[in-house]
Amino acid sequence: MFTSNHIDGQWVTGDLAVADINPSDTRDTVGEFAQASASQVEEAVEAASRAQQIWRQTGLEQRYAILMNIGRELMERSQELGELLCREEGKTLAEGTGEVYRAGQFFTYYAAEVLRQMGEVCDSVRPGIDVAVTREPVGVVCVITPWNFPVALPSWKIAPALAYGNAVVWKPANLVPASATALMEIIARQELPQGLVNLVLGSGGVVGEAMINSRDVDAITFTGSLATGRRIAEAAAGNLTRLQMEMGSKNPLVILDDADLETAVACAINGSFGGTGQKCTASSRIIVTRGIHDLFVETMKVEMKKLVVGHALDPSSSIGPVVDKAQLERNLHYLEVGKQEGARLVAGGERLERDTPGYYMMPALFTEGSNAMKLNRDEVFGPISCVLRARDLDEALEMANDTEFGLSSSIVTQSLSHASHFRKHSKTGCVMVNLPTSGTDYHVPFGGRKNSSFGSREQGRHAAEFYTHVKTAYVRP
Ligand code: NAD
Repeated sequence: MFTSNHIDGQWVTGDLAVADINPSDTRDTVGEFAQASASQVEEAVEAASRAQQIWRQTGLEQRYAILMNIGRELMERSQELGELLCREEGKTLAEGTGEVYRAGQFFTYYAAEVLRQMGEVCDSVRPGIDVAVTREPVGVVCVITPWNFPVALPSWKIAPALAYGNAVVWKPANLVPASATALMEIIARQELPQGLVNLVLGSGGVVGEAMINSRDVDAITFTGSLATGRRIAEAAAGNLTRLQMEMGSKNPLVILDDADLETAVACAINGSFGGTGQKCTASSRIIVTRGIHDLFVETMKVEMKKLVVGHALDPSSSIGPVVDKAQLERNLHYLEVGKQEGARLVAGGERLERDTPGYYMMPALFTEGSNAMKLNRDEVFGPISCVLRARDLDEALEMANDTEFGLSSSIVTQSLSHASHFRKHSKTGCVMVNLPTSGTDYHVPFGGRKNSSFGSREQGRHAAEFYTHVKTAYVRP
């Protein structure tokens, strides 16, 4: 296992290192990882810029083959790399393995997209002149990623960046350097121009700031919290750097009286507590109409008792630990906030002791919440959900949309007309019907509205909007 940065084709160390601690067992150090300096970021950007000149002219079949190789290796090694991911991030084995496999699918999908890059040709309004509209790479792309999807999320940014002919300087979150290094190690073994993909590990304050303030960076793609997003937008505005951001959310799951109860509870459990609730698409507000409210809450309480919180690598665990001490403290703080605001904690929320020392807590369910509560306005990013009672679909929809965020929403109903109405009027980038708010595909666009997103969509063919420039050529033959 490499424990360093990858800059200009070389594995290089830094002046400082941080320990990567297993949240399921804090006695287990996954590794010590070097931190890059601001000047190393500069070197990485320069190397990327040189390499991109070669890569943009590299043949399509070679680009296709390289992306396919990376994708296949990720899929083949999903078990092994999934275990590493779970060890440092704390998601369950099934989730970790699935994530690495999905990361592979992003690369194979974009390998195919390499061969589908076509322009448009049309007549000019001026007779005798042809018009051609083509796409060209933007250049050096800074990729800044959070800790909650340490392999899939960077993959859905790096794969399209490369497919469309760009170079990458990537900074993962400091909580997940091992997964990042493993992905970088696979990429670094390919026949790529030296310095095309660079990994710079480190804090947002040093490495991140050096990246976002660089005048030699052509585009920044960021996923993380709203606060960091605002800071990045400020820096990018200074240099007018192209920017795409996906940030937090407060996703509503609406359950109507006519819902199938089993589907409703399954969507609520999966959407609220999957990935220990640490998903940007997690459902943290469960808006339930009054006819089904009490039965839904009682069934949730029964089903939540079946959840097994434990060591991420124990196959019997259905929920892993919280990622670190700071996030656990934040979750516990919000439990107190909810209680003080008058919501009723009806299930879970206990801090748990296990055989190994880790950041374990029982998923929590509040009821009697109001949409005005801080509990229901702030993104907590933990396994905490609150049930809000609504009169009918109209009130539920109004509450669902009453948030500064707009990433994902869902409705559980057996009425096609209610589902269609919700689908049309929900102010989110992703809308689900009889499905959890989380869980998306890789071949269609992903992103939100309002403070959840900024810039063009990620994933699928829509990614071309961010990773390419459009050029319009007028030709008199
Ligand atoms: P974060 O904002 O703290 O950090 C994200 C990344 O930004 C990290 O790599 C961090 O080091 C870096 N960073 C921090 N300060 C920076 C600065 N000044 N300049 C440049 N980079 C800086 O987020 P996190 O805690 O790692 O992740 C959780 C957040 O991510 C949640 O808000 C969650 O909703 C969001 N998220 C969103 C999506 C989505 O697609 N919408 C997906 C996953 C996670």
